[in-house]
Amino acid sequence: MAATPELQQTVGKTASFSGTALHTGEKVTLKLHPAPVDHGIKFRRKDLQDEPTIDARIENLKTVERATTIGEGSVRVHTVEHVLAALSAMGVDNAVVEMDANEPPIGDGSAQAYVDLVKKAGVTAQDEPRKFFVVRDTMHVESKTGALIVLLPDNKFRISCTQAGPDNRFAQFLSMEVTPAGFEREIAPARTFVFYEDVKPLMDKNLIKGGSLENAIVVRGDAVLSKEPLRFADEFVRHKILDIIGDLALVGRRIRGHVVAVKPGHAANADLARAITREQTRRSAVATPRTIPSGDGGLDIDQVMQILPHRFPFLMVDRIISFETETKCVGIKTVTINEPFFQGHFPGHPVMPGVMQVEAMAQVASILLFKLAKTTSRIGYFMSADEVKFRKPVLPGDTIFIHAELTKSRGERLAKAKCHCVVNDAIVSEAELMFTFLDK
Ligand SMILES: [Zn+2]
Repeated sequence: MAATPELQQTVGKTASFSGTALHTGEKVTLKLHPAPVDHGIKFRRKDLQDEPTIDARIENLKTVERATTIGEGSVRVHTVEHVLAALSAMGVDNAVVEMDANEPPIGDGSAQAYVDLVKKAGVTAQDEPRKFFVVRDTMHVESKTGALIVLLPDNKFRISCTQAGPDNRFAQFLSMEVTPAGFEREIAPARTFVFYEDVKPLMDKNLIKGGSLENAIVVRGDAVLSKEPLRFADEFVRHKILDIIGDLALVGRRIRGHVVAVKPGHAANADLARAITREQTRRSAVATPRTIPSGDGGLDIDQVMQILPHRFPFLMVDRIISFETETKCVGIKTVTINEPFFQGHFPGHPVMPGVMQVEAMAQVASILLFKLAKTTSRIGYFMSADEVKFRKPVLPGDTIFIHAELTKSRGERLAKAKCHCVVNDAIVSEAELMFTFLDK
C-alpha cells in the first residue's frame, strides 16, 4: 500500500458538446457534470420525463451487440463504451453524463471528443480514497467466437491485446500501461472500424442512420475506406483496447492487473467485468468479518440491542460487522424461513417484503447516528425515504449485507443516510433515508 492513497476524482466544472447519434442520426448534446465521492458514473436522460439516471454498472448491462447498452427499467442508454473509456482512463471516478437522447454523439468514432471534453471540464481530486480491484489470482473468460481474455496480477493497469479480422486479415498486437497521458496519445484517437460484410445488412435495414465514413473506418476486402487516412498503422487494435477500457469501467473500481485479450469483443469484455464484480462481492462478503479492527470493530447482538430499542419481530440487524469510518458501517441480517413475515408474504412463495429491507437499512443507519451522538437517551424517528429501489427478491437463506453511510446531519435534529442491501453479488435494494431525533 502506498503511503498516500490515490484519491477519487471528478470533473472541475460542467462542460458540453454536441454531435450526431450513431443509430438514430439525430442531433444530441452531452453534458458532463461534477459528482460527489462514491457516486460513480451515471447517465442522465434529460429528454425523458423525470430525467431518469442509469448507473454505469455491469448489473445494468443490457446488450453487447456492436456497442454496449445499459439500462434500468425501460430506460436505455446505448453506445456508452467510448465515453466511459475516456472518463476512466483520464481519471474521472465520479460524474453525471447528461444527454438529451438515448446515446452520446459519436464524434469521429474515437474517444477524442470525450477526452477533449474531460480536459475542458478539468479533473479535480476529492477527499476519499479510490476503490481498487486488485487481481490476486489469474482469471479468464472465453467465448465461442474465439475471444479469450485473461486477467493477471500486476501492480499497474495494463492491457495487451491482439486483433484479427475475418481470415485473420489485419492481425495486430499492442501492449501498454493505461495512464491518462498514454491513453490520450495512443488510444483515444483510434476510430471504430467495421468489416463491410458485417455492416452491409445493417445499412440495408437503415439501422445505422448516423453512420458514415466520418465516424468509422470500413474495411472491404483488403481495402481500408475512411475519410481520413489511418491515424496509426495498428489503429484497429488500439480501438479494441479503447473498448476494453470502456467496458471494464462498468466494474466501478480501478483495476490493478494485466488484461491479456485475444480477439476481444464487447460480449467477452462484459463477461470479464461480470467475473471481476462477482469476485469483488465474494471478497467483501468473506473478508469483511475477518478485518474488524480491534477497539473499533463490529457489534455483536447484545451491543446492537443496547443501542436499538427494537425487539422481535422488528429487530432487523443480527450484527454490525465493521465500521469503515465514523459515518459508514455494514451490518448483516440472516434471513430464515422462520421470519414471521414469510407466513403471509406470500404463502407458498416466500419473499422478504421490501419495506422490511428499508427498516433494516434504517436500523443500521440509526446505529451510526447513536454512535456519533454517543447517547441512547434519544430516539431517531424515520422521516422519509427517497430514491427507494427494490432490484431483486430476497429469499429465505439469504444473508443481507446492509451498508449505511451518513451523508448529512443538519444540527442536532436531522440526519440523512444513503443505504443499500447486498445479497451475493448484487444490490437488492437501496434508499436515501432521513431521520429526526426526539428525547425518549
Ligand atoms: Zn468502440
